[in-house]
Amino acid sequence: MRNAHKSFGGKTVLHGIDLTIPRGSVTVILGPSGSGKSTLLRAINHLEKLDEGYVRIDGELIGVRVDGDRLRELPEKQILRQRLRIGFVFQNFNLFPHLTVTENVVEAPVSAGVLGKADARQRAADLLAKVGLADKADAYPRQLSGGQQQRVAIARALALDPDIVLFDEPTSALDPELVGEVLNTIRTLAGGGRTLIVVTHEIAFAREIADHVVFLSDGVLVEQGPPSRVLDDPQHQRTRDFLSRVL
Ligand code: ADP
Ligand code: MG
Repeated sequence: MRNAHKSFGGKTVLHGIDLTIPRGSVTVILGPSGSGKSTLLRAINHLEKLDEGYVRIDGELIGVRVDGDRLRELPEKQILRQRLRIGFVFQNFNLFPHLTVTENVVEAPVSAGVLGKADARQRAADLLAKVGLADKADAYPRQLSGGQQQRVAIARALALDPDIVLFDEPTSALDPELVGEVLNTIRTLAGGGRTLIVVTHEIAFAREIADHVVFLSDGVLVEQGPPSRVLDDPQHQRTRDFLSRVL
């Protein structure tokens, strides 16, 4: 991400963010509520359009193309194709309530035309086993706990075998006793070759799984580095204040 600027109605939410994330790494993004974490995450797959700056994945511009000295929006179809390699896990699960667990996981690869129905069901079964929910394949989301729903959402995000998975506060909506099972599921993905970018307030988890920690405050990337530096030896007062509040 280079020089990412974003405003909403005159309020600047991202003030020129530069961020480089190595393939296969785990990056944790921390910051107070309203600091622009979700906007930054959503800009990565062009769910938010930047006012200035750009995102590249493996050198490919996301959502835009160069036209002379300007960037122009790509056709929706091309943006949707670019998004196939990026999974997204939302705070509130966002499962389809009228579809079973299996159908939730099958939906994206089938509607994208990437897998036939039978292959998609097989992949869904494998993924549900992986997140420990093989026995819930035919249940509906409302029959599951929040932790189970979020594990389904993770299986769904993996259904297209994405290179990158974005997590936006995946445990914030959960009762405390359900947080661990979701963190465990995310943990199994770390180091598996995919690039994970996780917005979370779970500092102990960040320390354990992150290769890289980014601290955002008021739309500014205040500091970044390995957890041993950002979490245990922060260089900026704003980072220290934030950590003392969440720890
Ligand atoms: P965070 O995820 O760190 O809590 P967000 O990226 O959600 O922060 O939001 C940053 C700021 O941008 C907040 O002040 C929020 O109200 C504002 N904002 C986010 N999305 C929109 C939107 N679609 N329209 C107007 N304001 C928005
Ligand atoms: Mg947010």
